[in-house]
Amino acid sequence: MNDAAIVTNVAVAVDGDRIAAVAPLGELENTFANASVVDCRGRVLTPGFVDSHTHAIFGKPRYEEQELRASGLDYMEIARRGGGIHSSVRDLRTRSEQELLELAAPRLRRLAAHGVTTVEVKSGYGLTPEDELKSLRVIRRLGELLPMRLVPTWLGAHEIPLEFREIANGRSEYVRLLVSTMLPDVASAGLARFADVFCEPGVFTVEEARTILSAARSAGLGLKLHADELRASGGAELAAEIGATSADHLAAISDSGIRVLAQSNTVATLLPGTMLFLGKEKQAPARALIDAGAAVALATDFNPGTSPTTNFPLIMSLGVSQLRMSVAESMVAATVNGAAALSLADRVGQIAPGFSADLALFDASDVRELPYWYGDRRCVGSWARGRVCHSQIAETL
Ligand SMILES: [Zn+2]
Repeated sequence: MNDAAIVTNVAVAVDGDRIAAVAPLGELENTFANASVVDCRGRVLTPGFVDSHTHAIFGKPRYEEQELRASGLDYMEIARRGGGIHSSVRDLRTRSEQELLELAAPRLRRLAAHGVTTVEVKSGYGLTPEDELKSLRVIRRLGELLPMRLVPTWLGAHEIPLEFREIANGRSEYVRLLVSTMLPDVASAGLARFADVFCEPGVFTVEEARTILSAARSAGLGLKLHADELRASGGAELAAEIGATSADHLAAISDSGIRVLAQSNTVATLLPGTMLFLGKEKQAPARALIDAGAAVALATDFNPGTSPTTNFPLIMSLGVSQLRMSVAESMVAATVNGAAALSLADRVGQIAPGFSADLALFDASDVRELPYWYGDRRCVGSWARGRVCHSQIAETL
């Protein structure tokens, strides 16, 4: 992870949706004589960032909870009072597919304006068969509408909905609904690439998560897990055991969890923006994970409750200043390992011939400026599959 393979004085040739060559400009000018040219001189060009963990399909923002937390209420207490995820669920259920699409599109464009060209987007604020399918259809339509690459994840197991929490055997009834109704509907409609479960004390237990994810694997979906965010509860161990593509959060991962993840192919996806916004002092042990040999990715966790930011480079700043990663490690975490967290590492996340033409251009002369100007927006252009996602080039040249 500490080798981001930074090179200078090269040009990148794009042919259709692929990178065709990376070489000094003089060499490429003859081969691609008729190419249109984007002048990147004096700037930093990176692989388009991969945001491998977002909850971008939601209705209203939840700014009122920020003050509640400041006054001393914690995340679980706000949830117990019907806030948190439950309030986003109530809100999303009242909204039409079209309305959700119109709310989500500008959010995703903001991500692109920060250099993100691949975004994983989860459902999980519906929690009924109809509302989960509605959310996933919105993701599919957004993927057709926007030039960015969207990767849909079904997160029906985001929370036990209140109507199931209030009845006897509600937990097991909801797990049954997930496995025997929602999952087959989602899988047969081809609306999701991954299934995810919020595995945390008070939400889904390790046993319940194992049941849901085993069924999802049988239905042909890749696996993800919200694991060990607030307390070490065996989530990382479960992710490794079932061969999850990624285990996400991990702020409270145990030493044994670190060892097990490091020996597995599961990517450790860290979300430092969430801990910052919640005012938590304890960040995920990125250093211990990387030093043990785990593949670490960074993502925004963009969502209305605990991480309402689309500023992906800010997450890299936190990676360096809070998680004590090197700049090279934060670049790899934002690109190659983000792609690996979505099973896309063979075609996304590198500027190399044959890879998808996903690129981001920054108003910076050194790659170390990307995490340095924290909170700033330095991205002046981004492209996915060779198509423009964001461009300020004309204004800035
Ligand atoms: Zn999440």
